[in-house]
Amino acid sequence: MSLHQLVGHGDIRAALARANMRSSLPSALLIHGPRGVGKQRLALWIAQLVMCEHPTDEGPCSACTACRMTLAVEHPDLHWYFPVPRPKGAGQRLVDALEEARGQGLLERRNTPLRPSYTEELRGLYLGTVQNIRRRAHLRPTMAEGQVFVIGDAELLIPQESSPEAANALLKLLEEPPGAARFILTSSESGRLLPTIRSRTIPLHLSSLPTGQVATFLQEHRGAAADVATWAAKLSQGSIGRALAFLPDGDEMGQLEALRRKAFSLVSAALAEGPTGGYTAALAFPASGARGLVDLFAFMEEWLRDLGAVAAGAGQSVFNEDARPKLDEIVSRTGLRAPDIALAMSQVEEARQLALGNVNPQLIVSGLVRRLRKTLVPKRMGGVRT
Ligand SMILES: [Zn+2]
Repeated sequence: MSLHQLVGHGDIRAALARANMRSSLPSALLIHGPRGVGKQRLALWIAQLVMCEHPTDEGPCSACTACRMTLAVEHPDLHWYFPVPRPKGAGQRLVDALEEARGQGLLERRNTPLRPSYTEELRGLYLGTVQNIRRRAHLRPTMAEGQVFVIGDAELLIPQESSPEAANALLKLLEEPPGAARFILTSSESGRLLPTIRSRTIPLHLSSLPTGQVATFLQEHRGAAADVATWAAKLSQGSIGRALAFLPDGDEMGQLEALRRKAFSLVSAALAEGPTGGYTAALAFPASGARGLVDLFAFMEEWLRDLGAVAAGAGQSVFNEDARPKLDEIVSRTGLRAPDIALAMSQVEEARQLALGNVNPQLIVSGLVRRLRKTLVPKRMGGVRT
């Protein structure tokens, strides 16, 4: 298997290729931008560029041994790290288990290069991972002039360890890269990175892709029907990784599509006649692991924004286009008012902040639905406006 084709970001690629020809490519880069927009894929392209035997100012040749090995994720000097579920164990056993988990992850990435950028699994980059990187960075490269380390979702270095130790160990490497080693970090939440890591890397921002480009990619590489591809591309807001998570996976609904619908059912529960819907909805969530709610709340905000748009007579600009008739029905049934919706959106944002901490998800969801009811449902409908 080979990595999937890199789509878009032509200007950045051209600038990087020219910098490589001038030998002025920075040794520590931070690629940031929306989730699923191709940051790790671009990082791997840069690895290919610097290891290519015949690069030009248009990029790597894609034909030499180094290019072919990189495209197969089999180059001995390319080391790709990404968050993994935390294995059991401590000390050296944990360090070894983390390397094993990464090996498993690499195998999955080689077998299935096109992967949705969404998971509900708790994953992290642990101190043991950084120890592995450090040990390896001090070894000699096998084929290339220097080793290349790609570290995806680098913001996950911190929260799982509840200490900045892992990040600080990485910092030392970024400060003084051993030999000709290069580090390419990626992050969709670069605000959560330690400022010291940000200050030691050259930032590269990747923007969303045009949705037409995403739709074409889904048709060509996933065999998606034109209408499904367009639907998923719009919902993804220009991110191939997110669009893949909207597409059905066999008989199963895409994970992000399931989450979008769950978000709708919570907004509906807040607007229902009786209050029980909210409790039922809250109990459907696990009692721990609130981080998974962050994406859910982002969808709830989209639904509320859409209801606001319909209430303001701007229904043609809704995000959830496929639900337009439902949105119209809700607004005409409940007489929702734009100021109340704005307040409701700020309440969802507050719940989102809570979810970043360590609060019980059932408590967050039931509390949120109750607050939304108070905000959105006037007394005549059975709500308790206080
Ligand atoms: Zn090449």
